[in-house]
Amino acid sequence: MTLAIVAALHEELAAVLDLLPDERKTVVAGREFWVGHLHGHEVVAVLSRIGKVAAATTATLLIERFQASRIVFTGVAGGLGEGVRVGDVVVARQFAQHDMDASPLFPRHEVPLYGLTRFATDAALSDELARAAAAMLADAPRTLGEDTVREFNLHSPALHQGLVLSGDRFVATATESDALRRDWPDALAVEMEGAAIAQVCFDAGVPFAAVRTVSDRADDAAHVDFVRFIRAVASRYSAALIDAWLRRP
Ligand code: SAH
Repeated sequence: MTLAIVAALHEELAAVLDLLPDERKTVVAGREFWVGHLHGHEVVAVLSRIGKVAAATTATLLIERFQASRIVFTGVAGGLGEGVRVGDVVVARQFAQHDMDASPLFPRHEVPLYGLTRFATDAALSDELARAAAAMLADAPRTLGEDTVREFNLHSPALHQGLVLSGDRFVATATESDALRRDWPDALAVEMEGAAIAQVCFDAGVPFAAVRTVSDRADDAAHVDFVRFIRAVASRYSAALIDAWLRRP
């Protein structure tokens, strides 16, 4: 029963690796896979790199080479839904590829030959992560420190659950995020990896769940302080959440 923990950005993986007392590195396909234990669970942690192809390759390797029996993604995303603010957390219940379009052969956004536009995440695993995320957010000042809470104005961070979009584009204009909201009125957030991992896990029958901290609003200010936010907020959220989740009996 190996749990895979995947992150897209270096700072976030580093915070998770700090939790593992005994990780050993194996390099496959240019990626560093860290195998170890966390609170008695067998864990493999890896950086997926950015984008759908990199994420799909990583998920396939996790399943085929490392016998991952569950995959959890932690990362950041741009908020799309109304009220999805920077510092909030989104637990994905479904993923869709907003840049998939094989029309007119297949309906726009449908993944060809699957007959599906949306891939569901694992309900039980997502429930567990949502519980851990809610508890972590309720205690955000302890996780982040009061100065960080003030600096990023994270006074009442909320948990959202629902549709997350993935595509091979960093969405950083209001024009583009408005278009995504028009096409996907129930989308909560946008990122670049989740739907790819969801599809690989669907093929392999491996449970998958994803937690994303909202780092930006996918608008013209999306690049501002991105790295600082990941260091000060998102990576701490990820580590605290995974630690609390796996610590439970
Ligand atoms: N511009 C950034 C890196 C962009 S990649 C930099 O300079 O470092 C952004 C990563 O965060 C991807 O892995 C993606 O999944 C996620 N992400 C966060 N906000 C996003 C947004 N607005 N659009 C798309 N992906 C986003």
